Amino acid sequence: MKKAKCTVCNDTRIEIVPKGRFAVADFCSSCHGSCNLCDGTGFIFENDGLGREHAQRCQCQDLAYRIMLYNNAQIPSQFYDATFENFDISGSPSLKAALATARFSFKNYQNGKWEGLLFMGGVGVGKTRLVSTILREYALKYGIPCLFREFSSLLSEIKSGYDHGLSEMSVLETINNIEILVIDELGKGRKSDWEINILDTIISNRYNMRKTTIFTTNYTDSKSTSYGDVVLQKDGKGGMIESEKRETLEQRVYSRIYSRLKGMCDFILMKGPDFRDPQSRYSS
Ligand SMILES: [Zn+2]
Ligand SMILES: [Zn+2]
Repeated sequence: MKKAKCTVCNDTRIEIVPKGRFAVADFCSSCHGSCNLCDGTGFIFENDGLGREHAQRCQCQDLAYRIMLYNNAQIPSQFYDATFENFDISGSPSLKAALATARFSFKNYQNGKWEGLLFMGGVGVGKTRLVSTILREYALKYGIPCLFREFSSLLSEIKSGYDHGLSEMSVLETINNIEILVIDELGKGRKSDWEINILDTIISNRYNMRKTTIFTTNYTDSKSTSYGDVVLQKDGKGGMIESEKRETLEQRVYSRIYSRLKGMCDFILMKGPDFRDPQSRYSS
């Protein structure tokens, strides 16, 4: 393998840094402008074997577009360096399988399979990291528009839209139409009728338009592996104790949405060591 000339970007010409809430991509600060495929001309000349040279547009030419797609995706800043190569499977077969599925997702998409993925599992198994990596690949490697949204921040966005006189449909326009959508932390929240209705609207729209949606959730098909919200309960002695309200994903989002999800996603259970312990390298 050819040794990379630029040690900052590994000759990808893109540098990604955490900036505020999001990971932000830009041309590499070290080698900007020096594409070593075309020496900065924008064209690559190929011999057709008959002695004729053909000019082809160099792949570096659409880099600015891909950088824009990456930035528009609004990937959380803590996953700025997430790649498939550095995803820690920690010897867990289910994490290994989840990684393989994530890696293969573009092949499916390319073959016209629009169905998405739903990564289920406990806090800290790397779900958000993995879906952030999928979006990075779609945007930077394949040039496909995508968007990351945590479910609860999406709800806040809709609420603040109301305050500015915007209907939920106008706030949801991008969510409904974006080619690849990630909804992180599905099922988190108060589970109010309003929240369930919003979720139903998004899922139905994307299902009807055959658009790929990728979810993460702490809820699974079984109560024993679901991680619920911590709630305060009376301890019977006049005090309060914290307890975890365990529900399955189906109980959390109700049967109608659950069966839609089954119809539009492959469900993948991720089980592994809790990366959020003090010695861990990653958060979720
Ligand atoms: Zn560089
Ligand atoms: Zn070039």
